[in-house]
Amino acid sequence: MQVRDWPVWTLRRPALCYWLLIDMAAFATVVYAIVSSETPSPSEIARFAAIAGTAGAVIIGSSIYSHRLGETERNPWAAHLCYLTAGILALPPNLLVLLLFGPALHSLLSPRPETHRWLFTLSATALAVFTTRYVLGWADPHANLVILTLGAALLLILRAGLISLGLKLRSPSATFEENVGEPIDAILGIVAVSIGGLMGCVAEANAIHALIAGPPLALLERAAQLPQWRRSAQRDAKTGLANAVHWDSRARYELTKGSGRTRPMAVMLLDLDHFKRVNDEVGHLAGDAALAAISLLLRGTVRRGDLVGRFGGEEFVVLLPEATPDEAEYVAERVRKAVAALRVPTMATDGKPHELHGLTVSIGVSTTTRFGYELPDLLVAADAALLAAKAYGRNLVSMA
Ligand code: GH3
Ligand code: MG
Ligand code: MG
Repeated sequence: MQVRDWPVWTLRRPALCYWLLIDMAAFATVVYAIVSSETPSPSEIARFAAIAGTAGAVIIGSSIYSHRLGETERNPWAAHLCYLTAGILALPPNLLVLLLFGPALHSLLSPRPETHRWLFTLSATALAVFTTRYVLGWADPHANLVILTLGAALLLILRAGLISLGLKLRSPSATFEENVGEPIDAILGIVAVSIGGLMGCVAEANAIHALIAGPPLALLERAAQLPQWRRSAQRDAKTGLANAVHWDSRARYELTKGSGRTRPMAVMLLDLDHFKRVNDEVGHLAGDAALAAISLLLRGTVRRGDLVGRFGGEEFVVLLPEATPDEAEYVAERVRKAVAALRVPTMATDGKPHELHGLTVSIGVSTTTRFGYELPDLLVAADAALLAAKAYGRNLVSMA
């Protein structure tokens, strides 16, 4: 791939400038760390070997295990943060630079589609690591427990801040959770620096004691996969939408919340028209591409607080938590028109590119104003309205 084809150039200009700035600042810091430290003593090298060896063994073991389980997505950053924290406390800056080869190596071994994003995350991490080291004492980071705790907080907050600003600049419409992470990410970070802190302290006294951090680090590695597991249990793999079970429980929660405040809410049930024909004429893969495109469209057409789910095969369901009957009808019409105007580039069964168009959807809408706040009642009413829309000729919105 030529330099001008690198995906990094697709970033928005403010994000591109910021990401490159962070990369360059990290590079300069690493160079400073190397030139400012003296040749490590044998005991420092022993500490480095113990920390890197323990972390390396755990991460490689965990990667092999996770690969055998068929887990594709992994979040390795909790483990990296752990031994980097140990390095901040127990190693001279030049050996700390060597520790940063851990995440770098990780990226080389598991090639990622977004290398520039990995580099940015690594650079932001390096900056946070060296800033913390500077605050704790560049040459000799000795401190009491209070200062160490503040240092750990600085490391986590600075790293999260640098990264989330970069993500915000990249996609300003992304949610807070997408940019900053979920609460579980914060917990994982705190556990990572805590184990790392202990690892660094015991390694200071005796290098080989770093081994004690192996088992908790292994557990942290497993726990770091929790967000992925939860997401795959809640989302539908084909469309990325909430699956039926997850949508159901979230919808019930929102309805209970809404009933207390007597807010008007609505449920939209959608079924694609003559979708079997799409499968029969252009193939099931093209059908899947259409489902994915419609999911994306649905998410983009409704408001942020609206709950979109995959109800079944080519049926979708949306809870509008703050919509009067008129507003709900307006939203449903907007969705119906957007689907009718959608064009989906796909591949036909003969392998030739094929643009799907002319897809239509029938929509049944029920509202709490008429049917109350019980989900089954709303779904039954929306389903009856959907059947009516089909009976009246499809590509229609029908209000229950
Ligand atoms: P209509 O709803 O307008 O009455 O006609 P329809 O052809 O859409 O009929 P129906 O809703 O009963 O059929 C659903 C079809 O959707 C059947 C199945 O081939 C297709 N389908 C369901 N799930 C998937 C999926 O995950 N991928 C693909 N490609 N097709 C699916
Ligand atoms: Mg159907
Ligand atoms: Mg259908």
